[in-house]
Amino acid sequence: MKAVYISEPGKIEVIEKEMPKIEKDSQVLVKITAAGICGSDIHIFHGTHAYATYPRVIGHEGCGVVAEVGKGVTNVKPGDEVIIEPITGCGTCYACRNGRYNCCPDIVVLGVHADGIMEEYLVVESDKLYKYDPSLTPVEAATAEPYTIGAQANAQAGTQAGDLVLIHGAGPIGMIICDMAEKRGATVIVSEVNEARLAIAKDFGAAYTINPMKEDLAEAVMRISGGKGVNVVFETSGIPALMSQSVELLGPHGRLVPLTFAPEPVPVNFRLINKNELVIAGTRNQNGKFKEVVESLPGRKDRIDKLVTHVFPVEKAKEAFDVAMDRNSGACKVVITF
Ligand SMILES: [Zn+2]
Ligand SMILES: [Zn+2]
Repeated sequence: MKAVYISEPGKIEVIEKEMPKIEKDSQVLVKITAAGICGSDIHIFHGTHAYATYPRVIGHEGCGVVAEVGKGVTNVKPGDEVIIEPITGCGTCYACRNGRYNCCPDIVVLGVHADGIMEEYLVVESDKLYKYDPSLTPVEAATAEPYTIGAQANAQAGTQAGDLVLIHGAGPIGMIICDMAEKRGATVIVSEVNEARLAIAKDFGAAYTINPMKEDLAEAVMRISGGKGVNVVFETSGIPALMSQSVELLGPHGRLVPLTFAPEPVPVNFRLINKNELVIAGTRNQNGKFKEVVESLPGRKDRIDKLVTHVFPVEKAKEAFDVAMDRNSGACKVVITF
């Protein structure tokens, strides 16, 4: 069977490998149908991912059809179309015991710490599978995982109706967070330097868009907020200086959710954090968000179809990565089909 394989940073290829087999009664063999390329897959390719090990079959966003089930499996049967939750915690550490398996120190993420979803067949534990509505295509269903990341980020922010929200960055995660924040009743401002990306932000519910290369970001935010600052900032662009600035753009009781893995420390004004009782809420992976997201996907088809700009068969995985990495390609979410 075929698999998308990164042997070392900078080297991606489609290889042939042995079909996996079910080894435990609780496991399921899934025939993969579609898998999305994530920004973190691109970090694995570049060797800049904080946790990935090599060599690695990548992919943590995807879906498939159940091919075979272990003796103890009751929640799915052969032929079911399923979305895969790619993370597993140790189950015993402090984070896991508190329901936060998403930041378990011994977490296993498919495609990062273990071989992932970008291969024709995958064996997974049955409790990591979620049946999805047949009105969704596999390409649409493959966006469930990034939607769970958006759900987690909004949960960490406590985004609520009436909030004014600022999102730095209009990549796939920025757009998904925008979609979900708007659905929660927030008014969203999106800041992005790439005009093509900024143009699609309106389709995802942005009420205001700012190109910080063309106008002063802080001035624009203060004008829109009537000088009060915003209630929530999501930083998805990975630019460290924006974290320091974000603290200055938040009003009282504001929340800052960083989605960056930049390694460098960032200076932050703690006087403002105390004065305004700001909360900096980290967000990593997701916990328990798959059920609600999978149920909500059919209602998001319009936006999902705008999110997915390119689809490639697995044989053209290398091309798919080239397009996903090219900031001028107009690519948002790129999906590989099997
Ligand atoms: Zn991802
Ligand atoms: Zn744990």
